[in-house]
Amino acid sequence: MVIVMKPNAPQEVIEKIKKKMESLGCQVHMSQGENYFLLGLVGDTSRIDPSQIEANQHVDKLLRVQHPFKLASRHFHPEDSIIEVDGLKIGGGNVTVIAGPCSVESEEQLMTIANAVKIEGAQMLRGGAFKPRTSPYSFQGMGEEGLKLLKKAKEVTGMPIVTEVMCQDTFDIVEEYADILQIGARNMQNFPLLKRAGKSNKPILLKRGLSATIEELLMSAEYIMAEGNSKVILCERGIRTFETYTRNTLDLSAVPMIKELSHLPIIIDPSHATGKWSMVEPLSKGAIAVGADGLIIEVHHQPEMAMSDGAQSLKPAKFAKLMRAIERIAAI
Ligand code: PEP
Ligand code: MN
Repeated sequence: MVIVMKPNAPQEVIEKIKKKMESLGCQVHMSQGENYFLLGLVGDTSRIDPSQIEANQHVDKLLRVQHPFKLASRHFHPEDSIIEVDGLKIGGGNVTVIAGPCSVESEEQLMTIANAVKIEGAQMLRGGAFKPRTSPYSFQGMGEEGLKLLKKAKEVTGMPIVTEVMCQDTFDIVEEYADILQIGARNMQNFPLLKRAGKSNKPILLKRGLSATIEELLMSAEYIMAEGNSKVILCERGIRTFETYTRNTLDLSAVPMIKELSHLPIIIDPSHATGKWSMVEPLSKGAIAVGADGLIIEVHHQPEMAMSDGAQSLKPAKFAKLMRAIERIAAI
C-alpha cells in the first residue's frame, strides 16, 4: 500500500500517520519528490483500515499494490485448487457439468430429470429445496422434503448433490444432505452465512452477486476460507446491466480474470445468466472455450410446467446436444 500525501502536508501529520501505521504492524518507507510525499507500507497491512487513512484531509490517495484477498489469491497459491467430491475433481483442467432442475418439485420430476442428465454425462445433480424467490408468493421450495428426494436421487444415480443453503437457520440440515452447498447470488455478501460456510467441511459453490465486482466475489470467498474452509468453487451467473433482452449479462471475461487472480475453480451458470433456454448451449460452448472449470445447467423434462425458471430450462434432448458440443470443445 502506498499513501500519497497532498502537497504541503504538514510534517507532523506525516509523522503521525507513520507512527500509526507502524503501531499496526507494518514498516513504513518514506520518499519525497519535488511536489509529493509518499509513505510506502510494507509487511502485514491486514489491520489497516484504508478508509480511515483516506479520511485524513492531508492524504491525496491510497494506492493498493496487493489484492485485499490473500487465501483466495493465486499469488500465495500458484497451483490450481482441485476440489474433490466423491472421487470427482473440480478444477485443474477438468470440466465438470452439474445439471438438474431449478427446484425439486416432486419425486417423479426429480427422478426423471436426474436419470436423464446422468445418461447424457452430467457428473453432479443440482436442485433447489430452499428457493430464493423475488416474490414471497412464488413457490419457495419443498424444504427438507426436497432434500430427502435429492438424497434418494443420489442413491439411484450415484451423482453428488448440489443444493442451495439460504440462511444460517437451515444450514445444518442442508449440510447433512448436500455434497456441495450453494450460496446463491442474493446471498453472496451475507457475511454471517459465509462465516458459517467457512466452518463446514463440505465444498461451497459461491455464486457471484447480481451487482458484485470480481473483487467482491473473491472477498466473499476469502470470508469462507478465513474460517478454515478452503473448498470454494466460484460461479459466474450473469450480472445486472442495462440490457433487457436477457435476464442478466454473462460476464465471460470473469473466467480468465479470476484464473489470473485466484487458484479457485470457476464455473459458469448460463441458465440464470440469460434466462432463455435457447442461449444456454451457445454460452456453454463459450464458457468452456474461455477456460471455465465447468457448468451448472437447469434441465426440466416439462419446462412449461416447471414451478421455477422453466423459460431457461433445457429439455433432456437439448441438454444431450449441448453435452456432445462441449465434449468436443473441452477436448481441444
Ligand atoms: C439457482 O441456482 O437456482 C439460483 C437461484 O441461482 P442464483 O442465486 O444465481 O440466482
Ligand atoms: Mn433457477
